[in-house]
Amino acid sequence: MKPAPTTPDDKKTADARSAAKSVDWSDFRDHLSTATRDGRRQWVYPRKVDGKFFRLRTWFSWLLLMIMFSGPFITINGNPLLLMNIVERKFVVLGQIFWPQDMIIFAIAMLVFVVSVLVFTTAFGRLWCGWACPQTVMMEMVFRKIEYLIEGDAHQQRALNQAPWQAPKIAKKLLKHGVFYGLSFLVGNVLLSYIIGWQALYQIVTDPPARHLTGLGFMIAFSLLFYGIFARFREQACTFICPYGRMQSLLLDENSIVVAYDHTRGETRAPIKREQKFSARRQTGHGDCIACNQCVSVCPTGIDIRNGTQMECVHCTACMDACDNVMAKIGAPRGLIRYASLNGIERREPLRFTPRLMGYTFVLTVLVSLFAVLVFSRADVEATLLRAPGSLFQQMPDGRYSNLYTIRVVNKTSRELAVELKLENSAGSLQVMGGKLVVEPQKLLENSVLIELDPSAMKSGTTQIGLGVYVGGKRIQTLKTAFIGPRN
Ligand code: SF4
Ligand code: SF4
Repeated sequence: MKPAPTTPDDKKTADARSAAKSVDWSDFRDHLSTATRDGRRQWVYPRKVDGKFFRLRTWFSWLLLMIMFSGPFITINGNPLLLMNIVERKFVVLGQIFWPQDMIIFAIAMLVFVVSVLVFTTAFGRLWCGWACPQTVMMEMVFRKIEYLIEGDAHQQRALNQAPWQAPKIAKKLLKHGVFYGLSFLVGNVLLSYIIGWQALYQIVTDPPARHLTGLGFMIAFSLLFYGIFARFREQACTFICPYGRMQSLLLDENSIVVAYDHTRGETRAPIKREQKFSARRQTGHGDCIACNQCVSVCPTGIDIRNGTQMECVHCTACMDACDNVMAKIGAPRGLIRYASLNGIERREPLRFTPRLMGYTFVLTVLVSLFAVLVFSRADVEATLLRAPGSLFQQMPDGRYSNLYTIRVVNKTSRELAVELKLENSAGSLQVMGGKLVVEPQKLLENSVLIELDPSAMKSGTTQIGLGVYVGGKRIQTLKTAFIGPRN
């Protein structure tokens, strides 16, 4: 009969082995590790992990969480750090407002983002997913840690879920889900403040509920969405929903750096005997993998990295830490599971700048340059002039002719601007209806403009005229338009 585990380490290994045994890895490519053969969900109970990478990720996560939660309150030149107000079509990135008129810049920025992702992923795999993706950071560094705190490590969670519904279990579950919902509410509100701004969110919270039914609806919907993701959906968000994960098979090649098991060193795997020295074990012909399954037991997506790179792997580094700890204990070199490319493992090649990577980098350089030119040459003020719909020309008592126009001026700066309009190279005058054109910071102003021309300055039918847009005495734009008059 197998002896019962005695030390905490024995217990961990026994847990890892029993967890791994419940999954048949022989046909791992035919079904998801988180689903049973008949398609039902197989809940993953990843064991707590500690190690160099986990500690680094923890520090990095604190930094990211700090930025994420303080982001809505950080302003640059009076504008938020990031605002994606789709309803009002107002987008702010690093304090720079992008108007609908800046759509070309926005489109180029999106292309830069996509190509950067291509370059980065081709070179470094899913580094983003493991270290910076908000889903991984929130799930592994916040919600998972709270779960460990309330329900204990993997084997305790498994036991609790199998236990009958009695007072201790009900209390733990109520506490956990209460905290999860509270946190989800917070996360949902942070997301909402990146969409409508924290001032608008504050109004929703402080005003009577009846005045902001839509806003409240969004707050509740976001909270429930995040609660659903972090309490139940978890790793499936990465496997089923995230398009980035699905793109891995297109982007990765044998030179991409991924979290990889060094099969040349690890195989043939076999358990190590308690009294066996590691140096002596190598002479038996066995590889360094002692088949302890610690790497499997800590994996939050429930996979066995020894089967090779898989779509479910989010590069969270937990298996690297777990295996490094095992290697340290048996006196073997660390890094059996490490950041490496397939060519790095099989041919000992370092990261290469492949033609594919060169191509992506070239396209990225062109796009970044184009983006920089567009951003830095962007005018502070942008005006458009349109003939007033349905209006014709009129003859004034002094014999001159008039046309009515609508002018729209966007002030992209964070200060109020007085805009002056002047007729260029035409004998006539113009009048801004309703007085001066003073545009508030980051606002659009629409006004009517009446232009009168001397008949001597007009051609038969249509005359092309120019209208100078001046700010602080400096011409920043010339608008061309057609002036309609009688045909001779
Ligand atoms: S790869 Fe490392 S952690 Fe995984 S089973 Fe082998 S020795 Fe254990
Ligand atoms: S295989 Fe390793 S790196 Fe990938 S998700 Fe699992 S634990 Fe994280």
